Amino acid sequence: MNAGAFPFEANPNPVDPSERAARLVDPGFGRVFTDHMVTIRYSDDKGWHDAKVGPRGPLTLDPATAVLHYAQEIFEGLKAYRLADGGMALFRPEQNARRFQRSAKRLAMPELPEEMFLQACKQLVEVDKDWFPPVDGGSIYLRPFMIASEVFLGVKPSAEYLFMVIASAAGNYFKSGAPAISIWVSEQYTRAAPGGTGAAKCGGNYAASLIAQSEAIKQGCDQVVFLDAAEHRWVEELGGMNLFFLFDDGSIITPPADGTILEGITRDSVLTLARAQGLNVREEQYAIDQWRADAESGRLVEAFACGTAAVITPIGKVQSATGSFTIGAGGAGQMTQQIRAKLVDIQRGIAADDHGWVQRI
Ligand code: PMP
Repeated sequence: MNAGAFPFEANPNPVDPSERAARLVDPGFGRVFTDHMVTIRYSDDKGWHDAKVGPRGPLTLDPATAVLHYAQEIFEGLKAYRLADGGMALFRPEQNARRFQRSAKRLAMPELPEEMFLQACKQLVEVDKDWFPPVDGGSIYLRPFMIASEVFLGVKPSAEYLFMVIASAAGNYFKSGAPAISIWVSEQYTRAAPGGTGAAKCGGNYAASLIAQSEAIKQGCDQVVFLDAAEHRWVEELGGMNLFFLFDDGSIITPPADGTILEGITRDSVLTLARAQGLNVREEQYAIDQWRADAESGRLVEAFACGTAAVITPIGKVQSATGSFTIGAGGAGQMTQQIRAKLVDIQRGIAADDHGWVQRI
């Protein structure tokens, strides 16, 4: 099937407008959902079929549905923004579509055509545009995902899949709204090994990261940082964000995306913006001991995490079982704020879209 507009069935019981307004005052992240969802089915014999936008509601799954047992599941995360001129747009959604295809391939799932992915996201935002929170920086967060839906307990790729997109209103990602976050170094648990699924956005990666994230919270930190699985030495990424390090000579380093980290679209955008500014940007391994030494000597001046949900977030403090260290003055650094402002301004249609990243809906 092709990706013309999908059939639409309006929710007969949408959330009442005054109730919706109340929910949108302080939506937080991932809790306030819109009225509709997209579903597309796949089977080995029919291919992609039955695409529709319909009322959001619970799924009925047989207890033997494959995803419930072997976690054959992938997902994406992207935001729809309100532009300065009142329009709506997605930011580099074709990159999400392509990453979704790469994740599908790794998890032995069928690849959803890019055009269908884009149509699904755009149509859902169009239908549920009343759910943009009226707060500064408010957006609609889209969660495309796909599950193995065959009812069968054998360990093999499912013969049937369900692709869906749901949407939620998003305010600020970090509840504390802190200018800089603190991170906990996970020395016991790793996230991804060479040859594993680290570069795929599959639910299993996140399930495996939760114990380390809980440890971070117990230690009073906001997020966990993972080291490589082989040597427990090289800094990889946070549970849901990539990392950048900024030095006093103007150079910038981010760990290379060579199989064990997620290739973040924000990461790629930051690399492109920094290179366009003529900065010395390198994708290079960075050791945890070096991080501490460079923070203490002052050679490292800023560090930040980046991802769709939190955009760009400065890192103030790094803590591990053996001690802690502070980066710069422990707050939001100037270069980090500049890069964040540049990116947000492009996403909101305030700065020129020199790279063709903004897709109007
Ligand atoms: N790493 C991980 C593990 C993530 O879950 C995410 C969020 N998708 C990112 C990095 C950042 O990716 P993006 O910039 O595409 O949101």
